Amino acid sequence: MKASYNRLTEARMRELQALMAHRNFTVDPERLNVYSHDEVSGEKYRFLPDIVLYPETTEQIAEIMKWASKNKIPVTPRGAGTGLSGGAVPVFSGIVLSLERMNRILEFDKETLTITVEPGVVTDEIQKAAKSAGLLYAGDPCSSDASFIGGNVAENAGGNKVIKYGATGRHVMGLEVVLPDGNIVQFGGKRVKDVTGYDFVNLMVGSEGTLGIITKIILRLVPLSKYLVDLLVPFKDVETAIAFVPKMITQAKLLPASIEFMDHASLTLTGRFLNSKLPYADAGAHLIIELEENDKEVLFDEYVRIGEMCLKNGALEVFVADNRNTREKIWKARKAIAEAVSSFYPEFCMEDIVIPINRIPQIMEKVGAISERYQLETINFGHAGDGNIHVTFLNDRYTPEQWEKTVEKALEDLYRETVLLGGTLSGEHGIGLKRKKYLSAVLSPAVLELTRRIKAAFDPTGILNPGKIAD
Ligand SMILES: Cc1cc2nc3c(=O)[nH]c(=O)nc-3n(C[C@H](O)[C@H](O)[C@H](O)COP(=O)(O)OP(=O)(O)OC[C@H]3O[C@@H](n4cnc5c(N)ncnc54)[C@H](O)[C@@H]3O)c2cc1C
Repeated sequence: MKASYNRLTEARMRELQALMAHRNFTVDPERLNVYSHDEVSGEKYRFLPDIVLYPETTEQIAEIMKWASKNKIPVTPRGAGTGLSGGAVPVFSGIVLSLERMNRILEFDKETLTITVEPGVVTDEIQKAAKSAGLLYAGDPCSSDASFIGGNVAENAGGNKVIKYGATGRHVMGLEVVLPDGNIVQFGGKRVKDVTGYDFVNLMVGSEGTLGIITKIILRLVPLSKYLVDLLVPFKDVETAIAFVPKMITQAKLLPASIEFMDHASLTLTGRFLNSKLPYADAGAHLIIELEENDKEVLFDEYVRIGEMCLKNGALEVFVADNRNTREKIWKARKAIAEAVSSFYPEFCMEDIVIPINRIPQIMEKVGAISERYQLETINFGHAGDGNIHVTFLNDRYTPEQWEKTVEKALEDLYRETVLLGGTLSGEHGIGLKRKKYLSAVLSPAVLELTRRIKAAFDPTGILNPGKIAD
């Protein structure tokens, strides 16, 4: 949608600020700078807002949206800013609407096994609240200690337990949403089933802040398994490790909670960042396989069987982490990779391709060829059990201009090969600003047109998070 916006003149600024109780806003340039970017690297993904608002209630958000619609001022919703697609950056300046002060757990309902939260609750806090009652909130992105649940819903965040429990959307039962015109609507509820009309809950999930502002979320909780074990499995090379993943999924006759993958370069980088070494850090690749059960003996049988399968399929060793300390050490290394990348490389490009699991070996071959073709230092890690690999190009040699051009070409090749193998651009990080121009490579003109029409139905003036998916 090509829309034109009004500027936040001094008079409009005064009107807007008057809507915000207790001076819940900032125009301080240093503070504005914090809200100009997310975790995507590169100056072209930075845009300064004119003002950041910190609403505390749904009603305040409704007032802001009514005012913004009437005045045609762009509004960009923002969670914790940990996004990896440039979704929360205010491309046309205007208002950044930060949800950080709407951070309460509103209700823990043990009769329906649901938890109702505001969008600014940190994901980890929900996991902890569920665990304290012997339950599991199964959403588990690697950023869970920082990201907000509203951002997780808006991105349909994935993470480490998707293979067994599904991505964030699978846990969302109901939403309260403020529409761009300021109307407050309820979608879904605490009902296990609901086919009364279109499925708006799932339309909002993954809509990246372009259709409405999520102000309340009802999440499903599930029983927490009593026993957990993580297997850390080194392989001599990426090919052997990756070839084993589809085999394990189709032949093991059990569903692990996680199957994660780290190549040698990722292992080295995260080891350097944490100043510690995982066992077999010299291996070509590691898999982390998490199993969970309510019966200790059943779990034992399962991990012995999976361990044997690993060894028959080229594993160098199988480390069994069945206590909290060793499990935490393994996961710390896995979860720190993205942070390690941004701390050592000012310029990097972290991708999020996802392909059918049986094609993982082929795509890894193509990735190797692309890295060589463009002389790009590359690390590969990710949620192998979901076919979701974070191919990450690191700039260790190019000038900023050369880097831009080289990465652009490499991305074109990567996306082309991914699509040819039945895959797509993003499994969990989303489109945002970063992948917008590549959408037409995977979505047909008819689907793109439908996307624009849905956007226009929700947001006829085009003020909500402009410059993203539907524009
Ligand atoms: C170290 C690291 C590890 C990560 N690991 C994972 C991972 O394992 N899996 C994964 O899926 N992602 C991962 N991510 C990416 C990121 O954490 C997720 O996309 C997360 O869901 C973003 O949440 P956020 O609160 O930071 O949202 P933001 O980055 O602030 O916003 C993301 C998008 O959501 C919209 N939005 C935010 N809140 C709302 C709301 N209340 N209503 C409407 N729209 C809203 C914004 O407009 C934007 O488009 C990782 C990121 C980092 C830095």
